Amino acid sequence: MLYLGCHLSASGGNCAMVQTALTLDANTFAFFTRNPRGSSAKQLDVADCEKAMAMLQENAFGPLVAHGAYTMNLCTARDKDRAFAAEILKDDVYRMGFLPGNFYNFHPGSHVGQGMETGIRQIADALCYALEQDAPVTVLLETMAGKGSEVGSHFEELRAIMDLVGSDKLGVCMDTCHVHDAGYDIVNDLDGVLAEFDNIIGLDRLCALHLNDSKNPYASHKDRHACIGQGSLGLQTFRNIVNHPKLKGKPMILETPNDLPEYKTEIALLRQLASE
Ligand code: FE
Ligand code: FE
Ligand code: ZN
Repeated sequence: MLYLGCHLSASGGNCAMVQTALTLDANTFAFFTRNPRGSSAKQLDVADCEKAMAMLQENAFGPLVAHGAYTMNLCTARDKDRAFAAEILKDDVYRMGFLPGNFYNFHPGSHVGQGMETGIRQIADALCYALEQDAPVTVLLETMAGKGSEVGSHFEELRAIMDLVGSDKLGVCMDTCHVHDAGYDIVNDLDGVLAEFDNIIGLDRLCALHLNDSKNPYASHKDRHACIGQGSLGLQTFRNIVNHPKLKGKPMILETPNDLPEYKTEIALLRQLASE
């Protein structure tokens, strides 16, 4: 099954997002669990969650991939801010428990000069704290471009976090723009990158993908998303991805610079590439 979707606004609630997704021919989607550039979250609406779960099942959706706020930095230097970020993560995981079986993805963090080892340990500490509650959700570390002091642009860093946490509730979301910008050559050697991922992390832990082209060249460590086929990844890379046997059944989310009509066009384009 090819599960394709895009980022949707969560402002109207979960059921509204499912309805919007249906109009786009999407069968998964992403949304921010709270203000992406702040920390405020909407009041939890349990009835809306339950109704949305029924709609998702009726319409044979794949797992959703919720996204944590960009401002949540689990390895920021100030103790007080780091503790606040860990509380946000814990609350997000709790809320996602009302949409059981879906994914929650977040950016591991930026160590802001503390060093990679310290960053990895702090992220792992926050995850241990958030996963104590044993909610029915798998938490995904996103592969990063390696901008500034970002943790997670090497598969080894994600693996180190996962080893420290030691939970089967932890997986990875691979962002195509980010891995390319980080120096993984998915344009010329997708098989090689997936083999490397398998060796270091294990493909069974790869739970979702973000599909983005990149405005920047290979290994640029930049992270600027382009529309599908309009950047340095190119259409053939996405044709390879949507047809790859090892990526079958994994939800794929567009985070391209688009509004809904263009998202609909991109979803149709990707479905076309998969059926050729
Ligand atoms: Fe992201
Ligand atoms: Fe992403
Ligand atoms: Zn990005």
